[in-house]
Amino acid sequence: MEKHVVVIYPHPDDESFGAAGTITKYREEEVPVTYLCGTLGEMGRNMGTPAFANRETLPEIRKEELIEACKQLDVDLRMLGYRDKTMEFEDKRHVAEHLKSILDEIQPSLVITHYPEHAVHPDHNAMGAAAIEAVRMMDAQHRPTVWAQAITNDYINELGEPDIKNDVTAYFDKKMEAILSHKSQASGVIGQFQEYWATEDMKEAAKKHLGKEQFYIWHFGE
Ligand SMILES: [Zn+2]
Repeated sequence: MEKHVVVIYPHPDDESFGAAGTITKYREEEVPVTYLCGTLGEMGRNMGTPAFANRETLPEIRKEELIEACKQLDVDLRMLGYRDKTMEFEDKRHVAEHLKSILDEIQPSLVITHYPEHAVHPDHNAMGAAAIEAVRMMDAQHRPTVWAQAITNDYINELGEPDIKNDVTAYFDKKMEAILSHKSQASGVIGQFQEYWATEDMKEAAKKHLGKEQFYIWHFGE
């Protein structure tokens, strides 16, 4: 049984796509979950058709969506205030120290983040690397377990089978609710499934893509 789970990703919606099922499982077990969200995704290009947002309003819209998703998932939210699409330019040590100060306070038993260099977006890779560095800087006896999530298309070829394979189809409705809280992003999501609509029920197609959440246990090599 976990004591407290901390999820660390850079964008509003990473938590919903990447870990909503796993989060829901823990919340049902009454394990506290905190989401440390790096940015507000304010550089997103998805402004809707017709445009419902502009550069000035998008951060506020995405912030409200993030708050709503975290309400759906029943997790504590901390917004870290980094700038979207610039995580890779932040000083890794500085971000790691920031994250470590929060981890020292929360003392989680498990940290979930992206697998550096296997997480597609530079923000994902940078935030994952900083999160792992933060845990590495902790006292070895007090380190939480780290689950790193790879999301590239060929990650299994490169990294082998994931250590943790969570079948989250039981939590699928909650996961979709969380994803759809991110309204400004959801039209893109639904578009991704459109190609399957002709042959399959949308929900079945979505389940195939979102029904599994997989992670690698990070080894600190000490
Ligand atoms: Zn993201």
